[in-house]
Amino acid sequence: MEQLKIGVLGGGQLGAMLIRHAIDFGLNISVMDKSLDAPCARYTSSFHLGNPMNYQDVLDFGKNMDIITIEIEAVNTKALRELSNNGVKVFPSPETIEIIQNKHSQKKFLENAGIPVAPSVLVNNKSELYGLVNNLPGCLKLCSNGYDGKGVMIIRSAQDIEKAFDEPSILEELVDIKHEISVIVARNENGQVDCYDPVMMIFNKERMLLDYQLCPADIPDETVAEARNIAIKTAEALKLTGILAVEMFITNDGKLLVNELAPRPHNSGHHTIEAAVTSQYEQLLRVIMGWPLGSTKLTNSSVMMNVLEPAASEKKNMEKALVSILGLEDVHLHWYGKKGGSEGRKMGHITITDDTVEKALSKAATIRNILKA
Ligand code: ADP
Repeated sequence: MEQLKIGVLGGGQLGAMLIRHAIDFGLNISVMDKSLDAPCARYTSSFHLGNPMNYQDVLDFGKNMDIITIEIEAVNTKALRELSNNGVKVFPSPETIEIIQNKHSQKKFLENAGIPVAPSVLVNNKSELYGLVNNLPGCLKLCSNGYDGKGVMIIRSAQDIEKAFDEPSILEELVDIKHEISVIVARNENGQVDCYDPVMMIFNKERMLLDYQLCPADIPDETVAEARNIAIKTAEALKLTGILAVEMFITNDGKLLVNELAPRPHNSGHHTIEAAVTSQYEQLLRVIMGWPLGSTKLTNSSVMMNVLEPAASEKKNMEKALVSILGLEDVHLHWYGKKGGSEGRKMGHITITDDTVEKALSKAATIRNILKA
């Protein structure tokens, strides 16, 4: 294989799973992250300490690379533009990353491309919200740097405005959500495009955190086809070179709306490692190397659940529980090896495969009980 230098911005678990698949192809991956404790640090001899949001750090790291990709979207796009102008291949393009980095520009882009989204207005600060009480209730989302539900709040009435974000945000119409799904789509430089079947995310409503994720999603065939079409249309509108997670809502009256985009490997594609012919990580490597896309066919049904950091007093017990789970058939543990973490941080995930989602779910319930005990 051609020994191109591939640089990844961000050194978290998604980067680590990318490295794991790069090994199959004999590719070398360099990583830049702002923490020496990042999961990737131990898997590459070319680990660079630097802040992906810092212009100079990204420039210094990228100028020695042939190809740059990302595993987080909080990256300095000005530096990426400059690298791209100097001949470094940047996938996805800095323009794509910029559109997606800001929830307002992301929304406008989707609307202009004719992709269905919930209507929203831009709100520059908290005081502007008082002029928008007629738009309430609504869902307020920080334009930048929100993740895992931390940049999202429901504003029910004028009384809630007091505790609202005081930074640029969008106020979105409340959606009557029946299901949340995600479709991962890949597109290469030649315009070859393909997507995986939708996964269904089941959320813990209180904490706005994922409980578990199912694939295939329990939705009608027509909805699957429509979701796939929307994902492909979005990738084409972006002229994407890379992979993209398209998170969508299915409303109670059966409509599909795009919620948000992530132009990188995504949680909702973890199951592709064990339950699809080509994993999302391999797919991204194929794209950035200019190779043909791999088959997105599912090989199994699956359930994926995150393993979160427990309270300090429960840590030892959880380790024991995880080891006992390894005795179950078709249960795959991915442990990210993060050094410590506050309660609730994502520390790993478990993918359960089986012939049907129902069978995988029943194993998931057993695992839940083992972890709880
Ligand atoms: P994050 O980027 O932090 O994951 P999301 O935009 O995905 O934030 O929102 C988190 C959760 O909030 C969603 O999974 C959904 O359950 C809920 N949510 C988001 N937008 C709306 C909306 N317009 N109406 C109702 N609930 C919403």
